[in-house]
Amino acid sequence: CFCKLKGRIDDCSCNVDTVDHFNNIKIYPVLSSLLNKDYFRFYRVNLKQKCPFWADDSRCAMRYCHVEPCLDADIPEGLKGHQPKNAVIEEPSAFKYSKEAQAAECDHDHELGYLNTTISAAAYEEFARWKAYDDAQDNFCVMNEEDKGAEYVDLLLNPERYTGYKGRSAHRIWNSIYLENCFRPKDILSSYIQSSSINGMCLEKRVFYRAISGLHSSINIHLCSKYLLSEKNTFILDPPGGQWGQNLEEFQRRFDPEKTNGEGPQWLRNLYFLYLLELRALAKAAPYLEHEEYYTGNKEEDKEVKLGIHDFLKVVRSFPDHFNESTMFNGGQQARKLKEEFRQHFRNTSRIMDCVGCDKCKLWGKLQIHGLGTALKILFSGKFDGMDPASQNLTHVNKSKFQLERSEIVALINAFGRLSTSIHELEQFRDMMR
Ligand code: FAD
Repeated sequence: CFCKLKGRIDDCSCNVDTVDHFNNIKIYPVLSSLLNKDYFRFYRVNLKQKCPFWADDSRCAMRYCHVEPCLDADIPEGLKGHQPKNAVIEEPSAFKYSKEAQAAECDHDHELGYLNTTISAAAYEEFARWKAYDDAQDNFCVMNEEDKGAEYVDLLLNPERYTGYKGRSAHRIWNSIYLENCFRPKDILSSYIQSSSINGMCLEKRVFYRAISGLHSSINIHLCSKYLLSEKNTFILDPPGGQWGQNLEEFQRRFDPEKTNGEGPQWLRNLYFLYLLELRALAKAAPYLEHEEYYTGNKEEDKEVKLGIHDFLKVVRSFPDHFNESTMFNGGQQARKLKEEFRQHFRNTSRIMDCVGCDKCKLWGKLQIHGLGTALKILFSGKFDGMDPASQNLTHVNKSKFQLERSEIVALINAFGRLSTSIHELEQFRDMMR
């Protein structure tokens, strides 16, 4: 079977078989149950942001592109009020106290107290602004949890599956990601990139291309695996029903080498590459993730999530052959320039997601790019370096250096969940072909 891949995964040191076994037996079951929990189920996103690159060409009217809104009553209490993070940033001592505490301390001299408070408050705001600015410099995505237009979406209510989004609009998105924002071999200007020409590129550019191609494969595997088989029963169910299931023919059309000019299996290999990249980011951030509160306001469930995360990270850490990001961006000024270029290309890719003409595809596209951007931030911002993935203790220094927003954690784990599900679904297509 063309989808039974063999041998080593490109730019990594482990085999496809190892990943299949590791994912399908160990990761997939733990992760699937974790992603059903409220903490990971509600994702805050702005689907109404204007496309910054071209006039909106396709406000999608396809019924399967519709995103079910979240009722306020469904959102866990703890998420509504933007529960403050579990104090991962140590403020410099000058800014340590609340405005009230500062005012109280200065009570003996009202005027001076008032002055101090005002200066401290202004300085604190300035500090917070610079902190946000500094953090944004590490970001690979243009996303903001505080975005006024952002709303919670229930991911379980809106599963990623076939929507019917295709044609000019979908191609324009993929095309602009590959041709304008992906690094590409110089001689290719107007057609999709051939895998063979990727090998002549430097490691960093190959990584970028393989990551995008892996994401493209994953999205297309999901739509084949949850394909609209029949529209029967649509009048009974609201939101629109229909029968969803695997479509082997569609899968073959997209990945069979005979139908894809020999490229299909390579695109599937890129899925494995992306999986290893995100797995490594999870391992690197494991001590940090282990210390998150995962607060939703539901004590029982929050405890279960912490335990679930602990089990998940234990499996993640046990993988024998992680992707080695330390071989990238080495070599002085040239490497720094390349890293900045890499980041800018990726930030552009994240903005292109606002141009996707199908809300459901946009939701999952944005989430997965956000998750991948978070993985890249963990791998390349330098702030996780020196943290021992095997250790469950987060040092004071590490705590103060790094912070992930809740939405980044939700995106990261869900994005990895999508890749894990794709690899699991590949196994099912293999079985069907047998
Ligand atoms: P496309 O998948 O559009 O691919 C275009 C061309 O890219 C192909 O002809 C091939 O040359 C090349 N190519 C294909 N796969 C790869 C790869 N893995 N690596 C490198 N090159 C490749 N549709 C849904 O039904 N549900 C969804 O949830 C959904 N989400 C989407 C999210 C985004 C961000 C985008 C841009 C599209 C999404 N789509 C979704 C649409 C879907 O991805 C396809 O674009 C659509 O089904 C049309 O497929 P196609 O056969 O024309 O080829």
